[in-house]
Amino acid sequence: MAEYTPMIKQYLKIKDENQDAFLFFRMGDFYELFFDDALKAAKELEITLTQRDGGAKKIPMCGVPYHSAENYIKKLIEKGYKVAICEQVEDPKVAKGVVKREVVQVVTPGTIMEGSMLNEDENNFLASITYEDDIYAVSYVDLSTGESSVSQVSGTWKDVLSELYNRPVKEVVIASDFDDSWKESLVHYLNVTISEEDDCSLPEEFSYLIEKLEQPVLIKGFSRLFQYIYRSQKRFLSHLQQAEYVELEQYMKLDLYSKRNLELMESIRDKSRQGTLLEVLDRTSTAMGARRLKKWIDRPLLSQSSIERRHKQVQALMDHFFEREELKESLKDVYDLERLAGRISYGNVNARDLLQLKKSLKVLPSIRETLLQVDEPTIQELLEDIQPYKEVYELLDTSVSEDPPILITEGDIIKDGYNSQLDEYREASRNGRTWVANLEAQERERTGIKSLKIGFNKVFGYYIEVTKSHLNNVNLERFERKQTLANAERFITDELKEKEQLILEAKDKSVALEYELFVEIRDRMKAYIPALQLLAEQISNIDVLLSFANVSEENDYTRPSMNRNKQLIIEQGRHPVVEQVMKEEFVPNDIRMDERTNVLLITGPNMAGKSTYMRQVGLTAIMAQIGCFVPASVADLSVFDQIFTRIGAADDLVSGQSTFMVEMLEAEHAVRNATDESLILLDEIGRGTSTYDGMALAQSIVEYIHHEVKAKTLFSTHYHELTTLEDSLDHLENVHVEVDERDGEVVFLHHIKKGKADKSYGIHVAKLADLPDEIIDRAYHLLHTFETTNTIRESHSSDEEQLTLFEGTPEMSWTKEIEAMDELKNKNLMQMTPMDAMNFLYEIQKKL
Ligand code: ADP
Repeated sequence: MAEYTPMIKQYLKIKDENQDAFLFFRMGDFYELFFDDALKAAKELEITLTQRDGGAKKIPMCGVPYHSAENYIKKLIEKGYKVAICEQVEDPKVAKGVVKREVVQVVTPGTIMEGSMLNEDENNFLASITYEDDIYAVSYVDLSTGESSVSQVSGTWKDVLSELYNRPVKEVVIASDFDDSWKESLVHYLNVTISEEDDCSLPEEFSYLIEKLEQPVLIKGFSRLFQYIYRSQKRFLSHLQQAEYVELEQYMKLDLYSKRNLELMESIRDKSRQGTLLEVLDRTSTAMGARRLKKWIDRPLLSQSSIERRHKQVQALMDHFFEREELKESLKDVYDLERLAGRISYGNVNARDLLQLKKSLKVLPSIRETLLQVDEPTIQELLEDIQPYKEVYELLDTSVSEDPPILITEGDIIKDGYNSQLDEYREASRNGRTWVANLEAQERERTGIKSLKIGFNKVFGYYIEVTKSHLNNVNLERFERKQTLANAERFITDELKEKEQLILEAKDKSVALEYELFVEIRDRMKAYIPALQLLAEQISNIDVLLSFANVSEENDYTRPSMNRNKQLIIEQGRHPVVEQVMKEEFVPNDIRMDERTNVLLITGPNMAGKSTYMRQVGLTAIMAQIGCFVPASVADLSVFDQIFTRIGAADDLVSGQSTFMVEMLEAEHAVRNATDESLILLDEIGRGTSTYDGMALAQSIVEYIHHEVKAKTLFSTHYHELTTLEDSLDHLENVHVEVDERDGEVVFLHHIKKGKADKSYGIHVAKLADLPDEIIDRAYHLLHTFETTNTIRESHSSDEEQLTLFEGTPEMSWTKEIEAMDELKNKNLMQMTPMDAMNFLYEIQKKL
């Protein structure tokens, strides 16, 4: 340390306390970065790396001008970094030695407040996870809106990941001794920034925040999150709302795989919203509504009455076309009240924000009026919190000017007539200006110079300008020279000087007073933060319901009925997303599963439409349970507690695992967690391994679900052999996707029909492809042999011993070898003891 200059020593001390952030060290008009920060920032921000004398040796440095720092900070935050902003906290002119500096705020991905860094249609959540007594407390805060909540996840770590997945969480706060593998999976699955906080105490003045929480672990979890914010933000947090306890049991549980596979809010392909359910359903007019819609999609309801309440509301809005149009128009004028409340609390609203608030309040009476026309009690209930807050409106209407600048320190933000002192100052300065205009006329007359004019600029103040050709008419005793231009001279007179002083003084005073008045109004707004938050909530509810009504009408959706008697009936159902993007007509399909039918076995060739069909059933259930209408002509749906999926290309979700392993993990998750009220969608299970292996697994999974789980299950397969299960499993039915042949070409009809698919379909296609007759004949012959030797044994009941499917088949010998090789390939030899390895080899040898 000794060799560094005092300033670098100061830097190192502060950096030491902020090791996980880039330290933006204020020096005059720049934020400077040093040492490793400089090396890394120069690369990430593409700015020039220089050096600075640090004492005994030179140290790396780079910097950004303070006035454009926001852009650079934004770039770093978007990359998941944190930035500690270190300001000079005393006047350099009076400082003795090194200017005092302090970190005034740590900007992190989860705590940003500034408009340009936030995506307005999306919440920006900071989360924390606290694990204790087999319970995970998961807390969320969105600092930009103030909403806070805590949930309890009891289950496995995977359930925690599923809970967090799809939520706009940017940063997760954990204890410093948090499990390393959990930490890794957070980064891997959710791509979040990790922060640590061990202090789980809550300052007394904020104890109201946890009033609704009972369990100690939840309080601890929320306090951890709070402490982190408190420490890093060092700012006013009065807009933070009481932490809501969100009971996850009230919502449909969707695991990680289903959220992904069903492409609810993010496409699998490029993680964009294109091709997602969200994209289809989002017709919201406000940013608040857009954010609320995402919450609803992420949390489908379980309570039948709550679901039906939303359906009723949507129906009522659908029945009122004109009101809907009017509402849509009015909502366009409603500003982002949630984030506005946040900014009021932080003390960074400007006059334009307050003007927007006024405009929002202005449309409230007409929103109320319109909603009163919609004669549905559940809609009227929304009105309670939509009060016009006349006194706020009037205050803003009389005070804030109609076209204010962004800055609140330059005047022109307060209206005439609001404050008499301000009016007087303004009068003085306005009078002064008229006086100046009169003086110009007088001086023209006195000097006889017609082109003489009086002007003003910031540097020289008021001046009388005379062009060079008229200079000899100027009385230099009265006119004092001030500035020389190329073809004119500028003068001042005693008279003008005197008046200038008065005008400028009045101007200065009025600007200062305007600022004072504005701050006072802004502070008065603080009292309305909770009211604004309630208002925002109801407006966003209306916005989403309206969006549902509009989409439902446009896309010809139908109001579903919900049941608890295990019926799943959809007539003429469609896939809400695929039907939007298809050029040809989408073929609607029915599904009919009564209380006795639990498993539908779907057969049909590749590309026939099996997975589309399964996905559309899943999406239809979700749409109904978030309160929307559904793409079908009739829908009677049971309320599903959970949806499990294994559909489509299993990909690199879990890095380093084979496709087949991922497939098995997803199936395992489904059969272990599903109940008889769940929906399971399993697509081509077993395809990732050898035929017999795969078929055996597929059958045993179907049987297990059929006997034990009893969830409504759609199971697609290309193993035709499985269709015979219909004979032995009472609650299983076969359906297939119809294909046709026209003019020697295979035509996919995408039509689901009862019964099983034509078994020889593959050979049929081969024939169409004009393979030699010899091959086709031989294939038919072989197929016949397989069928007679390889038939599926009668399905065993659950307590029977394991099915021996392949006994006596000629393929036995080589399947064993393949199996043995597979086993060998998949074994991690590096983690075995020599003894284990010996035993393993022995086992394998025994098999061959
Ligand atoms: P599978 O799962 O049987 O291999 P997919 O469900 O992936 O088949 O469907 C293959 C293609 O067929 C899809 O890309 C889609 O465009 C089209 N398709 C599927 N279902 C329908 C339908 N009901 N109507 C029209 N086209 C469909």
